[in-house]
Amino acid sequence: MTSPAGSGPEVPVTVTFAGCGDAFGSGGRFQACIHIRPDTGQPPVLLDCGATSLTALRQAGLDPGEIAAVFVSHLHGDHFGGLPFLILDGQFSGRVAPLLITGPPGTGQRLTTAMECLFPGSSQVRRPFGITVTELPPGGTQTMAGVTAKAWEAAHPSGAPALILRLAVGGTAIAYTGDTAWTPAIQAAARDADLLIAEAYYWDKPVPHHLRYADLTEHEVTARRVILTHLSADMLGNQETARYETARDGLTITI
Ligand SMILES: [Zn+2]
Ligand SMILES: [Zn+2]
Repeated sequence: MTSPAGSGPEVPVTVTFAGCGDAFGSGGRFQACIHIRPDTGQPPVLLDCGATSLTALRQAGLDPGEIAAVFVSHLHGDHFGGLPFLILDGQFSGRVAPLLITGPPGTGQRLTTAMECLFPGSSQVRRPFGITVTELPPGGTQTMAGVTAKAWEAAHPSGAPALILRLAVGGTAIAYTGDTAWTPAIQAAARDADLLIAEAYYWDKPVPHHLRYADLTEHEVTARRVILTHLSADMLGNQETARYETARDGLTITI
């Protein structure tokens, strides 16, 4: 069986929202950390790794040492700031499996800078596992750990291009807006996807550089399932009336 949305045989994929909050802990939620495990025995990957991700993964009962690859949407701390902790945890827990990281242009230098700021000397230390950082420009594709990401440019200044991503996990397509103002690239990335994970920062109040629930209802999005993340306190207060599902930390679905 093949899926028109993806690129290979359809296998179930387990998605756990270990962290689904905004940058500021609204609702007591962890920052962006979405754990994706194909039910093929392949190791899991992460979509974003916010600063609180190590705690979020452990809270959800997920082993950080299993994660083979991290796809980073953009270089804000609530989306990539957990990488230094993930890397150091691997170092101190005896990890040997390589860790693959894909993010927008500039990811390699920003990760080194973050590591040196938080744990001086940590970017240069010898480790028993390799780290490969691949920079993915808008329009590009990259495959890591059996998962292929395609990138579109988001409208979200972060000192580097920000990405909207569509992952092909076997035949299952998962689109992710990251943080972005409305752009038609969301419709392209989400076209007939099995799941769209969409930022819904505010209900309908105009806010620069971010997506509102109203943006998603005012435009046609053809993903088969939509789950809202990155909710501010304003959006958390409105989520009961939203037409789409909303994430919560620890929510696990199979698609
Ligand atoms: Zn951001
Ligand atoms: Zn964010």
